[in-house]
Amino acid sequence: RAKQDGRGAFHFFEVALDQAARERRQLELDLRMALSSGEFALNYQPIYDLKNDRISGFEALLRWTHPTRGLVGPDLFIPVAEQSGLILSIGEWVLGQACREAAKWPDHVRIAVNVSTLQFCHPGFTSTVMLALSRSGLDPQRLEIEITESVFLEGNDTVLAVLRQLRSLGIRIALDDFGTGYSSLSYLRSFPFDKIKIDKSFVDAITSDTSAMAIVRAIVVLAFSLKMETTAEGVEDCEQLEELRGQGCTSVQGYYFSRPIDGSAAFALVGRSTSVEFAA
Ligand code: C2E
Ligand code: MG
Ligand code: MG
Ligand code: MG
Repeated sequence: RAKQDGRGAFHFFEVALDQAARERRQLELDLRMALSSGEFALNYQPIYDLKNDRISGFEALLRWTHPTRGLVGPDLFIPVAEQSGLILSIGEWVLGQACREAAKWPDHVRIAVNVSTLQFCHPGFTSTVMLALSRSGLDPQRLEIEITESVFLEGNDTVLAVLRQLRSLGIRIALDDFGTGYSSLSYLRSFPFDKIKIDKSFVDAITSDTSAMAIVRAIVVLAFSLKMETTAEGVEDCEQLEELRGQGCTSVQGYYFSRPIDGSAAFALVGRSTSVEFAA
């Protein structure tokens, strides 16, 4: 209050900060209600396998339809869910829902689920995953957990222990948004990921910027020698696709193939291709 002395600009920032804090608090209150009010839904974005020329899985992406604001994107509400701890119950719902949906798909089609660092580092995480698997009857080999490099900022030993535990259950682990985080390569040595997801920012620039091209090529070669798969994220055109195919990227994901779609549309997509296989 001592600052109420006519320093207009300062006061302006105070008011703006206050406003932002209020909005954030409101968002958190709304988020608290969202689960019980059934305002969450999952969308599924196909991941297309370039070797077998078919959909090898879907990534589950969380959608929140707010009662008055309409659709709110995960980039806005996931950070609030993390800071309030709500991500634990939301994440549990996501895992349960994603596994239940995937259990309807043909056996070769996997489900990838994003897990936030807070959720991953919570002591109950492995049992939450096991419960989602047993309730849905989904084969653990069909579940892929996506984590980001930020988990390695937490105590390394526990993180590695949880990763090994999940993997011993047959669950696959993917490293999401690769190249955008703290990018120390040492954790690629300490832990055998099943997949590296090449961040969209590299894919965006791949056909216009020779450094982006060189980085993608290096990631693909590195992953291949470590026996890890690669998925390129955010592929939007044919030129990007051909470049990635030429570099030996395992699979691709992006608007060029499909935007995230709802459960019934995802089912129709893979359901159809299996019935064709049966008919042949
Ligand atoms: P992500 O895991 O890296 O997911 C990829 C994001 O890129 C998704 O955004 C997807 O819709 C978008 N995308 C895919 N292809 C294209 C493309 O060709 N062009 C463009 N412009 N975008 C594309 P979305 O759904 O808004 O999710 C944003 C982030 O929110 C995700 O990034 C993930 O980190 C987080 N997220 C989403 N669902 C969950 C969830 O269930 N749990 C947690 N913890 N995080 C989630
Ligand atoms: Mg992801
Ligand atoms: Mg990503
Ligand atoms: Mg991302």
